[in-house]
Amino acid sequence: MHRPTVVATPQPINLLGMDSAALTDLVGQWGGKPFRARQLQRWIHQRGADSFDSMTDLARSFRQQLAENCVIQAPTVSTEHVSADGTRKWLFDVGRNNAVETVFIPEDDRGTLCLSSQAGCTVACPFCSTGYQGFNRNLTSAEIIGQLWHAKRVLEADRSSARIGVTGDQPAPDRVISNVVMMGMGEPLLNYDQLVGALRLMLDDHAYGLSRRRVTVSTSGVVPMIDRLARDCPVALAVSLHAGNDTLRDRLVPLNRKHPIAELLDACNRYLEYAPRDFITFEYIMLDGVNDTDEHAKELIAIAGRIRCKFNLIPFNPFPQSGLKRSPPVRVRLFAQRLMDAGVITTVRKTRGDDIAAACGQLAGEVSDRTRINERLPDRAVIAINQERG
Ligand code: SAH
Ligand code: SF4
Repeated sequence: MHRPTVVATPQPINLLGMDSAALTDLVGQWGGKPFRARQLQRWIHQRGADSFDSMTDLARSFRQQLAENCVIQAPTVSTEHVSADGTRKWLFDVGRNNAVETVFIPEDDRGTLCLSSQAGCTVACPFCSTGYQGFNRNLTSAEIIGQLWHAKRVLEADRSSARIGVTGDQPAPDRVISNVVMMGMGEPLLNYDQLVGALRLMLDDHAYGLSRRRVTVSTSGVVPMIDRLARDCPVALAVSLHAGNDTLRDRLVPLNRKHPIAELLDACNRYLEYAPRDFITFEYIMLDGVNDTDEHAKELIAIAGRIRCKFNLIPFNPFPQSGLKRSPPVRVRLFAQRLMDAGVITTVRKTRGDDIAAACGQLAGEVSDRTRINERLPDRAVIAINQERG
């Protein structure tokens, strides 16, 4: 029987996630010189182009070749919210009913963009709403950098329209992205290759040109990947410590069972030889009655004696399923004071964007629990508190 031949239409190549080497390679295959790749990169990332017609300094035949074979495609935006304090949150649709979030936090001296690296997360920390979703999939480097690409376009468009409306000597509001933190949804070091592709673009002078000190990867402690990051792309490192002893950290950050604190601290010390900053930031979420006593502070002081570090205390952002509570402000202050009295540099994170649920751990909070974590870990919070007291 005669069967019709099915010719598969080749998928267009998405240029958005390609780092300089990959783009130079692609352009080279079409006979183009490396500087053409750099021009293209500047159009995409610095000028936010999403089609090839506007790239007027590229030859028409090259633009046509690009248009026939390639696209510049960021994930689709489902919603955008702007908080009363200027914080913005975008929800991106990454297909198959998965969503990831991106948050922009403007401050006087900087603008920080918080990016997601995975839809869901395998680490399943009991205080994190992303952990309750289970793991859906890794984002591609195009989806990671696409969050930055989109946010930059929106903020710049906003800035130029604000300038038009400015009267007298009132300055236009400055909404530049000066810092990027990988602190949204997912564990970035468990999506290593795609993460590094996106980081390279953030640092590339022909793309976003951010300094290594202003790009931070936050990790729950994937030790082997901390070592790889040191060699491949050393940026600022934040480590989610949350507990100063293994018994408690095993429960709060389940990955600790695989890479306990001593191993993690050794990896941090090795990282410091390559890091752009001369300290590691330890994030420490403040959970009422769980990790906020004087004894816990003492454990952190001992850790600070073994590594150059700074502590960032994060008031827990509660969400219903967690069954956990935020430490009262007075306890957070005393805890911080205790560390500072021992000479440990300590800051307390301000909560921003509360009215649009844009704070850490609240991201994509509306997405339902697909893990049945509640069934696996009944009364987790109660267990944590009781073991802590017992
Ligand atoms: N997976 C990485 C990065 C994403 S989480 C990590 O764990 O470091 C980014 C930060 O948000 C981490 O320090 C995490 O502990 C914190 N976080 C998660 N849930 C939170 C919550 N409910 N309240 C406050 N901070 C939270
Ligand atoms: Fe994953 Fe980080 Fe949330 Fe833990 S805190 S579940 S590692 S995203």
